[in-house]
Amino acid sequence: MNFEHSPKAKEMMQRMEKFMHEHVFPLENILLKETRFDNGNWKTWKPDERIEVLKQKAKAEGLWNLFLPPLSGLSNAEYAPLAEISGHSLIAPEIFNCNAPDTGNMEVLWKYGNEEQKEKWLKPLLDGKIRSAFCMTEPDVASSDATNMQATITEDGDEIILNGTKWWSTGIGNPNCKVAIFMGLSNPDAHKYLRHSMVLVPLDAIGLTIERMLPVFGAYDPPYGHGEVSFKNVRLPKSAVIAGLGKGFEIAQGRLGPGRIHHCMRQIGAAERALKMMIERSMDRVAFGKPLVNLGGNRDIIANARIDIDMARLLVMKTAFLIDTVGTMGALSEVSQIKVVVPNIACRIIDEAMQMHGGKGMSNDTPLAAMYAYARILRLADGPDEVHRGVVARIELAKYKK
Ligand SMILES: Cc1cc2nc3c(=O)[nH]c(=O)nc-3n(C[C@H](O)[C@H](O)[C@H](O)COP(=O)(O)OP(=O)(O)OC[C@H]3O[C@@H](n4cnc5c(N)ncnc54)[C@H](O)[C@@H]3O)c2cc1C
Repeated sequence: MNFEHSPKAKEMMQRMEKFMHEHVFPLENILLKETRFDNGNWKTWKPDERIEVLKQKAKAEGLWNLFLPPLSGLSNAEYAPLAEISGHSLIAPEIFNCNAPDTGNMEVLWKYGNEEQKEKWLKPLLDGKIRSAFCMTEPDVASSDATNMQATITEDGDEIILNGTKWWSTGIGNPNCKVAIFMGLSNPDAHKYLRHSMVLVPLDAIGLTIERMLPVFGAYDPPYGHGEVSFKNVRLPKSAVIAGLGKGFEIAQGRLGPGRIHHCMRQIGAAERALKMMIERSMDRVAFGKPLVNLGGNRDIIANARIDIDMARLLVMKTAFLIDTVGTMGALSEVSQIKVVVPNIACRIIDEAMQMHGGKGMSNDTPLAAMYAYARILRLADGPDEVHRGVVARIELAKYKK
């Protein structure tokens, strides 16, 4: 494994860093104070024009859709440092059209969509003209076990009918969200990994209702939101099924490998920014006659943060390298390892940075509180820590099977 970034990655890193400093951080400053806790009526949310302007700028500068290797020409190992840079700000991934859940959904359509589905949904998603949601998790079943999903997909001639309730559908509150990928039970008598399917549902389909937005630590994340959505006899043509009935798990594997590594790449950036903020604050502020950095165990906190970030980054890079060379299936343990390690160290380092900022760290005067919420979510979303530890243990134990 080569530890040097490629010349192409280096050149793009420079451009992306410049873009972040000139455009993203100044806007983030304004947006943090304005919107995160705006819990007003979600039905009146609007996409932010200032973000839309930056999206056009990023697109014009070629800092667009970098997550998709066949389009960007970047390997996962080359994309990793770019995703890390975008991870310094919560608003950056959308500006570069590299945000979840759209990236995962675009990957699904790229790999498994037919020509009609690509034309109708993938094209506008790649253009950043619409957004999408991923509706898998259900309130009534333990959704960390995806075989539990009980919302139904029933065949009726040339059509299918969807029924059930989903929640935590991220991004569905955005008026630009026009399509959701719904995962449901279509073949209840088949093998447990062949029972589910994925379907493209236009958000204006009759019978689809967004019931409410769910707050995360009291914040609704406008204009994106995390919705509870009911599907009551939603009737669609069979052509809305992705890759055929029963293919839900095959697609989920394809979707979640790259999606998880992208989250982790960005969280390395979030942890790096928290460390920078922690150091700057602790050097500038004085208590008991000394800069905070020289009080108590604060130097150890800083040293441990640096050690953990560097270790985690190496594991992320190794995982990216494996995905590039042997594919996601050859990196199953590593993908789960980083999915446990990175959000946990990001949570801890951001928490320590908040602590170093005192009361300010709890407010929206810094991005830390929002960054903490996001890192904490990632200990659950796309599989809780425990489930990923289970994967690592299973693969490890299999080596010793007699
Ligand atoms: C902010 C946010 C955004 C999200 N976005 C989306 C989205 O866009 N689309 C979507 O479909 N879902 C989304 N999710 C849902 C998320 O993926 C689920 O919450 C997660 O998969 C866990 O499912 P659950 O909530 O049903 O918890 P459960 O399955 O009930 O699990 C609860 C807990 O049980 C324990 N547990 C579970 N399995 C094991 C095990 N094998 N070993 C030991 N302990 C275990 C863990 O502690 C786990 O946290 C989002 C969640 C949040 C909070």
